[in-house]
Amino acid sequence: MSKSYNNFIAGEWCESESGQRFDNINPAVHSDIVGSFPRSNASDIDRAVEAAGEALRAWSLMPAPERGEIMKKAGDLMVARKEEIARIQTREMGKVLAETRGDVQEGIDTAYYAFGEARRMFGQTVPSELPNKFNLTTHLPLGIVGVITPWNFPMAIPAWKLFPALTSGNTVVFKPASDTPATGTMLVEILIEAGVPPKVINLVHGTGSEVGTLIVNHPDINAISFTGSSSVGRTINAAAGEQLKRISLELGGKNAQIVMDDADQDLALEGVLWGAFGTTGQRCTATSRLIIHDTIHDEFLEMLVNATRNLKLGNGLDETVDVGPVINESARKTIHNYVRIGKKEGAKLVLGGEFATGGVLDTGTFFQPTIFADVVPGMRIHDEEIFGPVLSVMKAGDLAEAIELLNATDYGLSSSIYTRDVNAAFTAMRDIQAGITYINGPTIGAECHMPFGGVKNTGNGHREGGEAVYDFFSEPKTIYVDYSGRLQRAQIDNR
Ligand code: NAD
Repeated sequence: MSKSYNNFIAGEWCESESGQRFDNINPAVHSDIVGSFPRSNASDIDRAVEAAGEALRAWSLMPAPERGEIMKKAGDLMVARKEEIARIQTREMGKVLAETRGDVQEGIDTAYYAFGEARRMFGQTVPSELPNKFNLTTHLPLGIVGVITPWNFPMAIPAWKLFPALTSGNTVVFKPASDTPATGTMLVEILIEAGVPPKVINLVHGTGSEVGTLIVNHPDINAISFTGSSSVGRTINAAAGEQLKRISLELGGKNAQIVMDDADQDLALEGVLWGAFGTTGQRCTATSRLIIHDTIHDEFLEMLVNATRNLKLGNGLDETVDVGPVINESARKTIHNYVRIGKKEGAKLVLGGEFATGGVLDTGTFFQPTIFADVVPGMRIHDEEIFGPVLSVMKAGDLAEAIELLNATDYGLSSSIYTRDVNAAFTAMRDIQAGITYINGPTIGAECHMPFGGVKNTGNGHREGGEAVYDFFSEPKTIYVDYSGRLQRAQIDNR
C-alpha cells in the first residue's frame, strides 16, 4: 500500500475536508505509487489562511537573526535527510539521482544563505536635506504569502521561495505541484522540526486549477510567488493583478547555446548534452536551441548526434542512467506532437522523435532524445516551449547573426556562448536578451546567492535568489526622524 500524506494546516497534519485524495505516480515505473495526497478544497484554504493570519504578528516580531537560526537548523536537517529526499524525488518525478541530490543541495544552500541574510537585510541611512533630521529605510514583512511551485525542481524552487519568505517575517500558504507533493511535504516537515512555529507555514495539496486558483484569489493573501508555465502565469497575473497583489512570476524558457568557430568543441559538446538532455529537457533553463557557426556546423552536429545516441535511458534510481522519463503520459504525447509538427514544418529530424520503449522503458513514460536540424525562427518547434528532450539546431554565419537568432524568441531566461574570443564574449554579455548568460558553460547551473529570472515572457521582472528575492518578500519602509524641535518643510524651508 502507498504512503498516505496529509495537509499541514493550523499546526496539524490533517485530511482535506473534501475527503478526496489523489495518487502520485512514479513516471519511470507506473505501478509504483509514491503516495496518496489530500485533494484540498475552499474550506481547507480558508483555514490555512486564517491560521497564517493568526501567526503573523508573533512571527514578524521575532528578531530576523532568530528566524535565521531556524533556517540554519532546517539546512542541517536537510543535510541529514539528503539521500532519502533525493531518492523519493527521483521516484516522484524521474530525474536521475545525481540531479535530485543536486536539487536537495540547492535547498540546503538556500537555507544557509537565509541564515546569513537574516543578519543583513540591510536598509539605507541617507543624509537629510534638512538640519537635525535623520533619514533611513528598513524592511517590513508583507503579510501572508501564497507560494505555488512546479514539479521539475521539487525541493530547490520551494526552498528558493519559502526560506526568504519566512526569514523576512511572512507567514505562508504553500501548494507544491501535484506531480511532486512528497518532496514539498518533506520540506515542510523539516521546517517544522527546525522550529518554525505552528500556523506560520501551512501546506495544502491539490491541483492548480482548484487549489492554486483559490490561493491566488483569496482576499487575505497579500502576495503570490509563482513558478510555472507562462500560460498559467498570465492567468495568475490577471487575477492577482486585479486585486493589486504583489506577484512574482518565474515562467517558461526557450534557451539557446551558441557555439562559435573558435570554441573548445569538446567542452561545448558536453555543455549542450547536459543542457539539452539533463532532466530529460524538462528545465526552465534547458537548452532547447543550439546555434552553431556554419564553418563547424556539420562536424559539430555529427559529434552531437553520436554522443546523444550513447546516452542511457532508464530509471533515475539506477546510477548508470543518464536520462530519466518525462513526467507523465500527457507530457509525452505533447512532445510527440511537437515532433510531428517539426517534421511538417520542414525541419530535418536527425535523431530520435519517438517514444522510447523496450525492457525497463516499457514500465514508464520515456521519450528518445531528439535532435532537429535546419530549424528556423517561426517554426513552432523553435518558438514554443516543448519541455522535453527535443533540441532544435540552427546555423549562423557570424556572431551578430548568432545573437540575432538567439534573441529571436518571446522568452528570455538563460543563454550561453562558447567562444575563446574575449571580444565576442563581452559583446554577447551585452547584446543577448536574457536574464542569465553563461560564457563557456551550458544554459543551466544556477547558484542560490545569484539573482535568477528572465526577461520577456519568462517573467514579470522579479528575481529569485540572492538579495533580490528578499526585496520581493518585504515591504520597504522609509523613515524620517526630525530632532530639530520645530516644523521643517522639505523643499520649502531650506530653499
Ligand atoms: P504549471 O504552470 O502547469 O504549474 C505550476 C504550478 O502552478 C503547479 O503547482 C500547478 O498546480 C499550479 N497551477 C496550475 N494552474 C494554476 C492556476 N490556474 N492557478 C494557480 N496555480 C495553478 O507548470 P509545471 O508543468 O508544473 O512546470 C513546468 C513549467 O514551469 C515550464 O513552463 C517551465 O519552464 C516553468 N518553470 C520555470 C522556472 C523559472 O524559474 N523560470 C523554473 C521551473 C519551471
